[in-house]
Amino acid sequence: MSTALSQKSHANGRSVLISGASIAGPALAYWLHRYGFAVTIIERAGAVRGGGYPIDLRGNAMEVADRMGLSAPLEEAHIDSRLVTFVDDSGKPMVSVRPEVITGGRIGRDVELPRGRLTTLLYELTRNTVSYRFNSSIAALTETEHGVDVSFDDGTHGRFDLVIGADGLHSNTRKLVFGPEHLFDRNIGFCFAGFELPNTFGISHEGVIANRPGQMVTLYAPGNSERVHVFFNLAHPPLTSEQGRDQVYQRKLVTEAFADWGWLVPDLLRALAVADDLYFDEIKQIKMPQYSQGRIALVGDAAYAPSFLTGTGTSLGLVGAYVLASELALHADHGAAFAAYERVVRPFVAANHGILEEGLASIIPLTHEAIDQRNRALTTAAATSAEAPSAAGRIEHSMLDLSGYLSISAQ
Ligand SMILES: Cc1cc2nc3c(=O)[nH]c(=O)nc-3n(C[C@H](O)[C@H](O)[C@H](O)COP(=O)(O)OP(=O)(O)OC[C@H]3O[C@@H](n4cnc5c(N)ncnc54)[C@H](O)[C@@H]3O)c2cc1C
Repeated sequence: MSTALSQKSHANGRSVLISGASIAGPALAYWLHRYGFAVTIIERAGAVRGGGYPIDLRGNAMEVADRMGLSAPLEEAHIDSRLVTFVDDSGKPMVSVRPEVITGGRIGRDVELPRGRLTTLLYELTRNTVSYRFNSSIAALTETEHGVDVSFDDGTHGRFDLVIGADGLHSNTRKLVFGPEHLFDRNIGFCFAGFELPNTFGISHEGVIANRPGQMVTLYAPGNSERVHVFFNLAHPPLTSEQGRDQVYQRKLVTEAFADWGWLVPDLLRALAVADDLYFDEIKQIKMPQYSQGRIALVGDAAYAPSFLTGTGTSLGLVGAYVLASELALHADHGAAFAAYERVVRPFVAANHGILEEGLASIIPLTHEAIDQRNRALTTAAATSAEAPSAAGRIEHSMLDLSGYLSISAQ
């Protein structure tokens, strides 16, 4: 990264197509536009999706959000979770902790908000300066010496200097350019089912987690929301593509796996049977040997999804987008920019991917002994953090020095 006092962007009006309008895509678009690129974003869905499960912004990602002028709206949207209670499979409380004891977040600095709220903020920030095309997906792309020729699934075509895939865990761009997902994923052998229910549980600003070895049921009440997020996690070998699409199979799988649980689980399973917002997927990480090829690069979950057990996917997406845009501004040659992007971001990604094992051990322990051990460790951690709350947060969240990018100005 260059650290010159003032650095002019090399954008020269270069055109960039971004696939995916969730977090990494619009964040990248924001910075590219600011540095002088002409940006088009396509999104498969008909609109930017609001609502959704809570996500976190931590460490370096908060720095980037500040530079985008998002501090105030993020603070306003912060749902301020205050408690996570672990219960046994009959609902008996075992230990309660502040969420930061598990996540390593910083109280009063990091934020947690519904994913759709962040997506909407990023969309509002870019909608007047970036060209958005909804209901659109890349059907094929061919790189030439002068650009990338793109065919869209509505039959239209375009040529762009660069194409960036920000289309998530199951990235279409990755598949088209690098190959099928199974070549790049690390499947840890778990899947999850999530849906929402009216909040009739009397909980707010908190999560309740019940474990059996290799199984977890979570109720999560973001802020004072009238809705509660329900998650079931269970061990499962990699899904076949048929199982991945088949909601009848998925509902049956979860219902049978949790059939002999007590507590609220029988009611939750009845709700699962009729949930019209069921979200089912595997817990995976994406590990790419390289983040770019020629004029095409990946960012966010498409390039390095860390899995929700790390709680860092959103932060990696926001920081990755900022670094990628900044390096493109600093280098006239896209190959040099992509190489610099990867050099800066890869160690950050690796460190945050490394949190997965801890997440798995603390959220879904695999044996009764491991559950007891986790509960004992959390009891001690809760006592320690109550005496001396940590203001620093996890080192992995803040390990990048992004100061060198502050001096980039649009051309
Ligand atoms: C249940 C759950 C809980 C999570 N909890 C947390 C958490 O606590 N903290 C955290 O930091 N992260 C969490 N995450 C992860 C977080 O949601 C992701 O890391 C983050 O959303 C990644 O952003 P992204 O922009 O890279 O990709 P995504 O948010 O996945 O967005 C990809 C976008 O691309 C679009 N798209 C897909 N295919 C195409 C196509 N063919 N053409 C055009 N557009 C396409 C999609 O519609 C979507 O808008 C969680 C994820 C899940 C599923």
